[in-house]
Amino acid sequence: MGRIVGASSDPVIPGLPPREDAYPVTMPRDTPDAPAQEPTPTGESRTALVRRARKMYRELSELYPDAHAELNFTTPLELLVATILSAQCTDKRVNQVTPALFARYPDAEAYASAVREELEEMIRPTGFFRAKTNSLIGLGQALCERHGGEVPGNLADLVKLPGVGRKTANVLLGNAFDVPGITVDTHFGRLVRRFGWTTEEDPVKVEHAVGALFPRKDWTMLSHRVVWHGRRVCHARRPACGACAVARWCPSFGEGPTDPETAEKLLRMRSFA
Ligand code: SF4
Repeated sequence: MGRIVGASSDPVIPGLPPREDAYPVTMPRDTPDAPAQEPTPTGESRTALVRRARKMYRELSELYPDAHAELNFTTPLELLVATILSAQCTDKRVNQVTPALFARYPDAEAYASAVREELEEMIRPTGFFRAKTNSLIGLGQALCERHGGEVPGNLADLVKLPGVGRKTANVLLGNAFDVPGITVDTHFGRLVRRFGWTTEEDPVKVEHAVGALFPRKDWTMLSHRVVWHGRRVCHARRPACGACAVARWCPSFGEGPTDPETAEKLLRMRSFA
């Protein structure tokens, strides 16, 4: 299972700047579709935009059938811990640290009673390890005191936990509790603007604009697949346009090399986990 991100206005660790690429959000369940007459970014009709966006998503679904979050976890607690550690750190680095960490601290009680110096040492490679240690110990204590050691599956309780902001709570809900959500990180925002799905810059507006193009049930996988495409093909500086599976529907085709041989060399079709 996977990788997660959080809202830049909502840092995971108090006093710690948010990850630059991290401001995840979950769409409100009752978000209405955008009005039919609203102008589209590309000037096409709204119906044409929806059709084009869904064609692109179908293609991405074939390309990345098993796209998933790239933080490794097997339980909501592990996801919560990994997400806290991922602030200002790569998923790859977090995934190197968590196997030993999860074995040493298998439940909330273990974090609650952790020896600070020992925990700090284990998570040191993820950076900001003192602040993160505070969060993990506080998290363990709060889970034991208020929730019988379990991670609650609702936003109201999650955001009251130490080190857990709204973004992290939404990550948990979307990836550990199956509540559909759109995760807008820098990859996602960059791609959907290149795709011509929206011109919005604000993550919440992006989330609403893109959410209106797809059925709610697709939101979580859509987020993963778009982000995977951004990490592997549609890079920020040199997108591999000449080797891109959705090029025929992309109004930004040509932002990167269109020559297939040149573009092929830019692909990074490996796991980032
Ligand atoms: S055609 Fe180019 S800009 Fe468009 S999605 Fe593909 S790589 Fe990105």
